[in-house]
Amino acid sequence: MLALELFRSVPRYVAARAVGDRIPGLLAGPLAPLRLVTRDEPLPPADGWARVRPRLSGICGSDLATISGQASFYFSSLVSMPFVPGHEVVGDLFDSCEDLPAGTRVVLEPVLSCAARGLALCPSCAGGWTSRCDRITVGHVAPGLQTGYCSDTGGGWGGMFVAHRSQLHAVPDAMADSTAVLVEPLACAIHAAFRGRIEPGASVLIVGAGTVGVLTLLAVRAFTSAGLVVVVAKHSRQRDLALRLGANEVVDPNEAVTVLRRATHAYRLTPDHGSAYLLGEVDTAFDCVGSTSSLDLALRTTRAGGRVVLAGMPATGADLSPVWFRELELTGAYATGTELTEAGPRSTFDLAVELAGDAPLEGMVGAEYPLSRWRKALDHAFASGRLGTVKVAFNPRED
Ligand SMILES: [Zn+2]
Repeated sequence: MLALELFRSVPRYVAARAVGDRIPGLLAGPLAPLRLVTRDEPLPPADGWARVRPRLSGICGSDLATISGQASFYFSSLVSMPFVPGHEVVGDLFDSCEDLPAGTRVVLEPVLSCAARGLALCPSCAGGWTSRCDRITVGHVAPGLQTGYCSDTGGGWGGMFVAHRSQLHAVPDAMADSTAVLVEPLACAIHAAFRGRIEPGASVLIVGAGTVGVLTLLAVRAFTSAGLVVVVAKHSRQRDLALRLGANEVVDPNEAVTVLRRATHAYRLTPDHGSAYLLGEVDTAFDCVGSTSSLDLALRTTRAGGRVVLAGMPATGADLSPVWFRELELTGAYATGTELTEAGPRSTFDLAVELAGDAPLEGMVGAEYPLSRWRKALDHAFASGRLGTVKVAFNPRED
């Protein structure tokens, strides 16, 4: 089968990291530690596993961070190389898998937790918090926090991958592939919204209006009774979408502090060095960009005792002074698991499949590329905010 493969290349990693995201054309070019290869199809490693043929597979911000060398070395021991990326997938079961017959259209819950690895459940998995699994480096398959970072399973950026029954969710017939491929990022956004523990009427700041930002906005409106919701958007084409999805105001990053001060009557202070900040501000902020400046903005505009949620893979280097001085709760929101809803505990993925069926997700997948055009696809994904594209996806069945 054809697949895109990410391989370990320290020189390319260092070069890509040095270039950063300033010259995107270079990142998808000679510096990318990615190549199109012909690989053997992966085989199910144990009972309860089956092969899946991807229909569409999204390009995630964490994929771009990995390819461009922006991801922390922290993750290097949580992956096995070379691996086929792709964890936002809709595909068809090639083999029957327990109660799911071959041919069932499925979406992938990518975390490779105890159940998939054939292990007795760790305390996190036993509690339904599979994203917090402690055993993601042992068991039936090689180390990998998720499918798409594991050398044994294949991934969505290839012609075939293998998945465990615990990772599979059937897709309703009426749901388009272009909607189903958004279920995984939507589930992550729903998890982030729950991690925000937003009280009724609370004010919310969402920094970023890319995929994570707009889906977090959707999830906050669907699963909480938030009051004022302000979205920080860098690009003009992201503004209309954020307003359509329920933002009360959409602001430019440079105007955010000024607009928030006006909206919430906070006090604005300007330090000797660095950007202005506020005292008395939003109750909960979500960093949906994962840059140093986006996290700084979230930390500097959240009220004392408020909560800041890292909704995407974070950058390093933010100033943690407000966390200490304003007694902020800084919390992560990684992948998915179980959410404590008013109706009791629910799988985040089940909530996402339901919300995706109702939500206005049409048009969010702005471009589909065959694997052979991967450089073009990555260029598009790196520039997606400016181009007004929410999600770029691969169609591994197309030539
Ligand atoms: Zn576990």
